[in-house]
Amino acid sequence: MAPVTTRAVLLRAHDYGDSSRILRFYTRDHGLVSVVARGVRGRSGKGRATLATFASGDLTVYMKAHRDLHTMKDFACAMTREGLAGHMLRFSAASAAAELVLSHAEADPQPGVFDTLEFGLDALRTVEDEVLAGTALAVLWTITESFGFAPQLEGCVRCSEPLEGDEVGRFDFSAGGMRCAQCSEGAAGPRVGPVARSQLEALLSGHVPQGLTHTRRHLGLVSDFIAYHVVNRPLKSLRFLGSMLPSDDVEASVG
Ligand SMILES: [Zn+2]
Repeated sequence: MAPVTTRAVLLRAHDYGDSSRILRFYTRDHGLVSVVARGVRGRSGKGRATLATFASGDLTVYMKAHRDLHTMKDFACAMTREGLAGHMLRFSAASAAAELVLSHAEADPQPGVFDTLEFGLDALRTVEDEVLAGTALAVLWTITESFGFAPQLEGCVRCSEPLEGDEVGRFDFSAGGMRCAQCSEGAAGPRVGPVARSQLEALLSGHVPQGLTHTRRHLGLVSDFIAYHVVNRPLKSLRFLGSMLPSDDVEASVG
């Protein structure tokens, strides 16, 4: 059995037996790949750092057909992303991105998801503190979109009429997007005005809008959207991430 080598990022690890670990990688060519890494627990120093969560590199693995757990031959680490572990908000945002990918990805290759994840982890490691919360939102939205899910923001999800520039509607989670003002009467979703709508568009394209506020409410939007359309349940790490963000003003709408 010939081993295969693919670019990979380590998303989760736990101990297995006396000296081994089970590692869950997201890979560019084989989607999610779980491997047994034998004899790695005793390693110290460099060997340990290169198998840290969020490290990227070339994973070489013996892949068995019709199995969920494969055997790792080697992981040539190219980037440890150690900076993520030393900062609570950076780490919790990266953990949320990892949980999103682990919860939805399968063994089929989705290179767009892989590239978006790596780009997002690098951004979370390097951006300035002032734009960190916005970057966390952008990372979650762009990964969601790379899986093929994006909210409908321009036309009403019920009547298809375009939303006017200054129109305030409500977000309809089950329908996956905005309702116009008229279709929002009596509806329950969060109110979303023109500012928040344009902020959402920016976040979906990977940009942090200038002067972004209400990051907790924005996190609520992306969390609920993911729960409705991508994972079908709330992600635990998103609740934790929310507790790290500054609390919003007490008002009933975003923007
Ligand atoms: Zn409508």
